[in-house]
Amino acid sequence: MQVPIDVAHPKVRRSRQARVVWGGRIVTVGGDAPVRVQSMTNTDTVDAIGTAIQIKELALAGSEMVRLTVNTPEAAQAVPYVREQLDRMGIDVPLIGDFHYNGHRLLTDYPACAQALSKYRINPGNVGKGDKHDKQFGQMIEAAIRWDKAVRIGVNWGSLDQDLLASLMDENNARPTPWDTKQVMYEALVTSAIDSARLAEDMGLNRDQIILSCKVSGVQDLVSVYRELARRSDYALHLGLTEAGMGTKGTVASSAALSVLLQEGIGDTIRVSLTPQPGEARTQEVVIASEILQALGLRSFVPSVTACPGCGRTTSTTFQELTQEIDNFLRAQMPVWRTRYPGVEKLKVAVMGCIVNGPGESKHADIGISLPGSGEAPAAPVYIDGEKSVTLRGENIARDFRVIVEDYIEKRFGTQTAAEVA
Ligand code: SF4
Repeated sequence: MQVPIDVAHPKVRRSRQARVVWGGRIVTVGGDAPVRVQSMTNTDTVDAIGTAIQIKELALAGSEMVRLTVNTPEAAQAVPYVREQLDRMGIDVPLIGDFHYNGHRLLTDYPACAQALSKYRINPGNVGKGDKHDKQFGQMIEAAIRWDKAVRIGVNWGSLDQDLLASLMDENNARPTPWDTKQVMYEALVTSAIDSARLAEDMGLNRDQIILSCKVSGVQDLVSVYRELARRSDYALHLGLTEAGMGTKGTVASSAALSVLLQEGIGDTIRVSLTPQPGEARTQEVVIASEILQALGLRSFVPSVTACPGCGRTTSTTFQELTQEIDNFLRAQMPVWRTRYPGVEKLKVAVMGCIVNGPGESKHADIGISLPGSGEAPAAPVYIDGEKSVTLRGENIARDFRVIVEDYIEKRFGTQTAAEVA
């Protein structure tokens, strides 16, 4: 008997829900919460205005939490001003302080900084060596308890706890059949994260204030480490391929690694650690992270534009230009549309290059246009909700189609209540 082909769905890993609090508001992470998009600034935090402006750009692009470097007393002093600027601009996004080496001192000496942040990123490999390790780690946990903040225990293989690694190496050498060096490294990463989380709990931090991460720069390494991390604990997990690289390489490597894990239900917040190309906006990492979640069907952020790649049947660049124009237009409107047209992010638009797949793909979309390929009559039929609606002709097809899209959005989403969208 023929059986139907399974419909693929991401698995669900029920991590323990964590909460990130700021100004009386709460962002939940893990549990039933959607996978959150996170990003990080690359401004000098001391430049509070410049940092606030970049955080605003990241937030408007869709980042739901933004991390910033807190590396000096001056940076710690600037953090409350960054928060204040954001509040003045109406940018409702929690801030995460990224601490290494001196976080225990900065969080103790600058209570306004400790208060203004919503989450502290603690790297167990960079909190001090020997008998200083637990003491300094404890000072950061004390600050989190005192100010009711979440922490991310963020292990990174570039700054792995060397004492722990050395002890696991010794243990390994004593095995009758020693593990591969890489397996010892994996063990050190996972052990460092989980042991640090347990230590934080022993010190009095609640479980719902803890998020873990174990970042590495290889795709297969990341998959192995996070599978094990998820198997051994139910803490909420922050996911990201560290030092992913630039451009296509960074985008593809991050997408490959994160997609495998997200499909297995692993990952509660994500960040794409993309090196910006010269002149490239920092917001690109948010766009990619959002696109990964949207492509997997986990979340919707912006209306999606389906477009064909073009081929020998499209010898002009008209459809490329129209696709780009529509895509740019939809993204640019989203900061306003998000509140004005609830549910608009689920809209599907198709821009196709010729008659072969154009009408079919356009009918599958909410609204689609099939442009004329080489040798076809100069007419572009538009399909709305699966039905042919109008045929555009002439020089202004792009402008006319944009008007049709806007009109459709106003009619379909303009009157919806949040309950109708849900
Ligand atoms: S829809 Fe037409 S132009 Fe686009 S890829 Fe297919 S055959 Fe080529």
